[in-house]
Amino acid sequence: MDIYKQLKTYFGYDMFKKGQEKLIKGILEGYDVLGIMPTGGGKSLCYQLPAVILEGVTIVVSPLISLMKDQVDALQEMGIEAACINSTLQTSELVEIMQEIESNRYKIVFVAPERLNSNSFMNMIRHIKVSLIAIDEAHCISQWGHDFRPSYLEIPRFIKRFKDRPVVAAFTATATKEIIVEIKALIGLQKPLEVTTGFDRPNLFYQVVKEGNKLAYLTNYLSNHFQEESGIIYCATRKTVEALVKKLKEKGISASGYHGGMETEVRQRNQESFMFNRTRIIVATNAFGMGIDKPDVRFVIHYNMPKNMEAYYQEAGRGGRDGEESHCILMYSPSDVVKQKLMIAGEEVAAEREALQYKNLQYLIDFCHTNDCLRNKILGYFGEEVTKENCGKCSNCLDQSEMMDITVEAQKVLSCIYRVNQRYGANIVIQVLRGSKNKKILEQGLNQVSTYNIMKDYSEKAIREVIMTLSARNYIHITTDKFPVLKLTSQSREVLQGKVKVYHKKDLIEKSLSENKKDV
Ligand code: ADP
Ligand code: ZN
Repeated sequence: MDIYKQLKTYFGYDMFKKGQEKLIKGILEGYDVLGIMPTGGGKSLCYQLPAVILEGVTIVVSPLISLMKDQVDALQEMGIEAACINSTLQTSELVEIMQEIESNRYKIVFVAPERLNSNSFMNMIRHIKVSLIAIDEAHCISQWGHDFRPSYLEIPRFIKRFKDRPVVAAFTATATKEIIVEIKALIGLQKPLEVTTGFDRPNLFYQVVKEGNKLAYLTNYLSNHFQEESGIIYCATRKTVEALVKKLKEKGISASGYHGGMETEVRQRNQESFMFNRTRIIVATNAFGMGIDKPDVRFVIHYNMPKNMEAYYQEAGRGGRDGEESHCILMYSPSDVVKQKLMIAGEEVAAEREALQYKNLQYLIDFCHTNDCLRNKILGYFGEEVTKENCGKCSNCLDQSEMMDITVEAQKVLSCIYRVNQRYGANIVIQVLRGSKNKKILEQGLNQVSTYNIMKDYSEKAIREVIMTLSARNYIHITTDKFPVLKLTSQSREVLQGKVKVYHKKDLIEKSLSENKKDV
């Protein structure tokens, strides 16, 4: 079978993207496969091409209705018969599609996971030759992930109901080890051929913005970059979405909103006008995204920090699917951290899972405070080996600003953590260092420790920067509880003894210092 010929005939491509050929050949040879590819990596082709070649039908389990409809339309246009079965169908439509499936009209049938164990569907599908079951967004089966869908847990039972077990192909853009292990086990993949393509997206430029007024930064950015092109702005809440849309419109910037609380009709209209370039910017909660295949999104701005690196990378990864340069900007503010922590605390989950959520959040906070290459920090999270120290395409690598030796400040902070017996969080440690006369400090006798008042000339913000930098470099461990406590790590000693030096961008620390002078 000449898969290159099919690639050209049906899809119009001359070459495979990374990983596609290996996965497709694996499927055609009858192996279960697990494809781990970043957003935009070309996962759909890995089951669409085999579907055309294989006998009978390919069933694709997919979490989102909007995603199914788009894919069906695209396939029909290419001359591949496809249909979808989901909850929006009327009974009569469903019966009709079922009959058409029975008469072998379709090569690909998309199914919402909720449908899998409906008896009528199963009774019908049993008579049909199903060669391949493809599971899109396979991480939705994992409770550790950010998109857990309980109905995905029905998948293994569904697979077992076939007399001739079809080949099972799972795909995800998530690469954390815990989740991969869980995907394989829960779906019941049999000795799968696993293909990971690597997570780097060379055309994405990463930037973290920590300083200044967010709105001012944003409007300035929008008037100076990609003025005629599309972008996504992610916000943490529906309220922020509404407020930001209003503000952008007032400034004459073309934007519309998208969140779960909007009427379906309005939301769809907004999505469409974004997709067809009638509005430049969509301001959205994380409800917007999975399956949005707009190739020319030039910037993805996070107006609020999301809950972990996985969520961040998936959302940021919606930029630049066409391979052209695109910007991913994460705006950090401490109040976003507070919000995320409240959300974690408000969810009723097992203690173990809660601890993991705090840990994952901390990784993203550290990402916002590192002075090292942002791209490397992302790839490191996904367990990828880093080859270059400097990517040249992130705000840290490009930032020419002078580095300042903050070893002495770091030592002061670390000794203070030690002196208060590693029992307090950042706020108290900062107050002790600044010699606060706060009631709690005095009551607990913290004004008696030897590090009391030794950083009185530094602003709260400057000391917090030092703490976050130390955490980002693993010289401080911030516990993952509701009330995080600062602890020393096995590496802290090296800083305390002056064996290693700590550096920080000069402008940030100095700015904080001068702000402090203003307060006094
Ligand atoms: P994913 O599901 O992994 O996010 P998609 O399957 O939506 O990615 O593919 C991303 C983009 O890459 C789509 O626009 C698709 O048409 C394109 N694409 C897929 N395979 C190829 C290929 N072999 N050559 C060129 N473009 C491709
Ligand atoms: Zn870099």
